[in-house]
Amino acid sequence: MPSTKPNMRPKIVESVTHKIKTPCGTLYVTVGIIDKRIYEVFVRMGKAGLCYCCLMNTIARLISMSLQNEIPIDLIIKQLVNESCNKPIYGTHLKKGAIRSCADGIARILKMEKERCH
Ligand SMILES: [Zn+2]
Repeated sequence: MPSTKPNMRPKIVESVTHKIKTPCGTLYVTVGIIDKRIYEVFVRMGKAGLCYCCLMNTIARLISMSLQNEIPIDLIIKQLVNESCNKPIYGTHLKKGAIRSCADGIARILKMEKERCH
């Protein structure tokens, strides 16, 4: 199995970016994939205060670190999913259910990408 430790990161990693509306604002969630596994995540907020941007960067780094250290993605998703910040948003491109928060939105995208690439 190829190593996915951070210092082994290839120079080029293919990724997809989802734009998703959450109760906390629009998020751009970029998921980098190596060998059909999610390797890293970047999250950017459409428009937000500095602290939100800092929090999103931090969440993304923690997710990436977990993924690169053999933490199963289902456990990561479980920590984020259904977390609720504000009024849920319905009718996003994620097939079922509402988006309950920024964290829930990230979780739903991780789940979708996991199912797509595994
Ligand atoms: Zn939020």
